[in-house]
Amino acid sequence: MRTAESVAIDERRLLRRLDELAQRGALPGGGLYRALYTPSHVAATELVSDWLKEGGLLVRRDAVGNIWGRIEGSRGGRAIVTGSHIDTVRGGGALDGALGVVAAVEAVTSLVSQLGRPNRILEAVAICEEEGSRFATNFWGARAIADRIEPDEASRVRDADGITLADAMRGVGLDPSTIAQAVRRDIDTFVELHIEQGPILEEDGPRLGVVRTIVGTAHLEVVVRGQPDHAGATAMDRRRDALLGAAAMTLAIAEAAREMGPPAVATVGTISVEPAQLNVVPGVARFTVDARHSDNARRVELIAEITKVCKVAGRERELGVEVRTLRDRPSVQLNERATDVARRACVACGVEPREMTSGAGHDAQVLSAAAHVAMIFVPSIGGRSHCPEEATAAEDVILGTRALTAALRELAYS
Ligand SMILES: [Zn+2]
Repeated sequence: MRTAESVAIDERRLLRRLDELAQRGALPGGGLYRALYTPSHVAATELVSDWLKEGGLLVRRDAVGNIWGRIEGSRGGRAIVTGSHIDTVRGGGALDGALGVVAAVEAVTSLVSQLGRPNRILEAVAICEEEGSRFATNFWGARAIADRIEPDEASRVRDADGITLADAMRGVGLDPSTIAQAVRRDIDTFVELHIEQGPILEEDGPRLGVVRTIVGTAHLEVVVRGQPDHAGATAMDRRRDALLGAAAMTLAIAEAAREMGPPAVATVGTISVEPAQLNVVPGVARFTVDARHSDNARRVELIAEITKVCKVAGRERELGVEVRTLRDRPSVQLNERATDVARRACVACGVEPREMTSGAGHDAQVLSAAAHVAMIFVPSIGGRSHCPEEATAAEDVILGTRALTAALRELAYS
């Protein structure tokens, strides 16, 4: 389906580089872990820097460690940017984020080598952090670009070993006092290629998707207070067991999301009890809820319903219940014009793409505050992601990269 004038990408180089990047942070038992500012993270960013230099681009590391490769445009103006994140979850796969980075390098360097200088400034970026897997913060790289970092954040946030984000930055030669220098106000359009991380494209096709909406996500913390008692001497009907209350709430929360219907989802992902003794009735249970919906009003409704079912379950068991919102990010509509460019690019590659809602968060949603943003999805085999089995067929990796290249060509060269 390739048109005569289309720009060819080096398919073997693309696939080889994905394998090479997957060696950085590979775990002995399978899967990989590239956490922000760790040696494997640094090794990955150095590898991408080398590729960008090899492609003739001007390479720099910004104040938070995002790696940029740039070519000036003959007409100047605002930049056309593509990329994704280079960090991973613990035990993650080889494509989440990495595909968008490697494809960005391939697309930009192929365009420059075959068409020469673009009209618009063209850049590929490896965003330093998206997953929040080392520090209890996420979208660190994209938030730095979009000027969304809180003033004391780097010195406040710590990893599991107690190391502050600021100290971790110093450890890799970055100066936390210069974070604001990473802000970009001159990006016109950002296009991100990403794996779907769900089963829709693989099961129902076609082989490419464009994202219309990225769902809003709320994170709640629920604290259930009962009474700690002796596990042997306290009869069952005298107990105020906080964990039993939390268990009833967990079931009711799942039911609330099910009743609302797709795309509502709610997940209790962590739980802890106090005093956490084998022979003591739990006096306190704390758990978190991740609740998502693409419609902002419906997300608010879902949060209200979750709060209500927790209170009801608590009342029935004479338990105290506090529900606290840790974070609430609204859903984001991606830019219509940029998405139209992405769709035309997919069509030029022979595929009328599916319009999709992304249930997962992406750098694109943060950058949509600073630029016109579009996203292209390729299928995930079995819908699997954030696991070692995460995979996409080689022909779909190639197809997605060709579509990205075509979109960048329209944006930067026409
Ligand atoms: Zn990702």
